[in-house]
Amino acid sequence: MSSSTTTTSFKNVRLLSSIPSSSSLYDVLCSPSGITSILPASSGVLLDKEDHLPELWDRTTLSVEGEINEIDGMGSWLMPGLNHPHLHLDKSYLLGSGPSVPGSSYSCGIIETGDFNEAMQKTLQAKSSFTPTSLLSRSSSLLSFSLSAGVTSLTTHVEVDPSLSPPALSLLSALELKQTWKGRINIRIVVFAQEACFVEGEVGEERRRVVEQACGMEGVDAVGSAPYVEKAEEGDDDEEGGDPTGGRGAKNVEWVFELAERWGLDVDFHLDYDLSPDRHPLIWTVLAEARSQPAFHLPSLSSSSLPTTSSNPSQPSPKHRTLTLGHMTHLSLFTPAQLSLLETKTRGLDVTFVALPTSDLYMMGRDASSWRERGRGSFDIWELEGRGMKVLMGLKWVVSSFFFRFVESD
Ligand SMILES: [Zn+2]
Repeated sequence: MSSSTTTTSFKNVRLLSSIPSSSSLYDVLCSPSGITSILPASSGVLLDKEDHLPELWDRTTLSVEGEINEIDGMGSWLMPGLNHPHLHLDKSYLLGSGPSVPGSSYSCGIIETGDFNEAMQKTLQAKSSFTPTSLLSRSSSLLSFSLSAGVTSLTTHVEVDPSLSPPALSLLSALELKQTWKGRINIRIVVFAQEACFVEGEVGEERRRVVEQACGMEGVDAVGSAPYVEKAEEGDDDEEGGDPTGGRGAKNVEWVFELAERWGLDVDFHLDYDLSPDRHPLIWTVLAEARSQPAFHLPSLSSSSLPTTSSNPSQPSPKHRTLTLGHMTHLSLFTPAQLSLLETKTRGLDVTFVALPTSDLYMMGRDASSWRERGRGSFDIWELEGRGMKVLMGLKWVVSSFFFRFVESD
């Protein structure tokens, strides 16, 4: 493998273009700071007449230092490394029937019912057995496998919770892996609050406290939660409007945005992970919060059109931050009018929707009383992309109790 200071010249490679069958070949020069040039192959292969790649450019006037490693692609495709946009490294390879991982001290054992409650219970049991050795071992196995498949970057959601000992156990492991794998896989870390953080009393306070502490650790990139896990308690507003969280889901959202602003972090939620037509989605609360913080606005927007937190024009603009929303299965229930509203509300914001079919499909049809009420397990990424929204698709968990049906069907 080339070192990070080596310039690599890829000769005679094919590139993704507007013509899938194009046989055009290119030479691509990659310096440590990025792509230096993309030019028609010097071997003399002619470009397809209709192949117009707007990305053709030449920056060879920029100095290229150090040695150049030349690779003849001989007509192979050249593409960017793959990315896991949403991966729970700490919960990988927990299923008993998964591959044997040295150092792993826990197995979910046999899955009996395959239902959602059992999967949640098995995962909770697994958490209590996490050790630094098992975390590093299972995660490293997945990282090795991913790298061999072409993955060069990923986002991992690491749970921070008082039930772990210490609460940041998974995070410490992820931070170590981030350093160990630097130069091979770029690991982006999300401090993740999986459990309800606005339950009454000390439990809620303690959960919030450990997450807030974790956000300040060096190497953390984002913060997120699963606001739909909050539940209404006595004294909350009733469920009018279809909010079974009694307003606690919205509190959770506001809290995460506050943390993001305080620590300069991106926001990465698990959101609206349901297929219940009567349930009020939290997406509108999240988008309103993002719009109130200029850091989440796309840089291309005119600053004059943005709400600002300061009337001082000399104040430096805040560091740009991104909003990512995973699952969003509820979107598959949206009417065309609701989708149009979503298109309007997301315009100008740096927001990405991530579909996670291997988990989302697991939810499909569990509460539906008829086929008519059964929504898609995953939202329609083509529909959103067609409306100008950014979409990604990922894996979430690998060989976990939520994978039962897929393992069974292998
Ligand atoms: Zn997740």
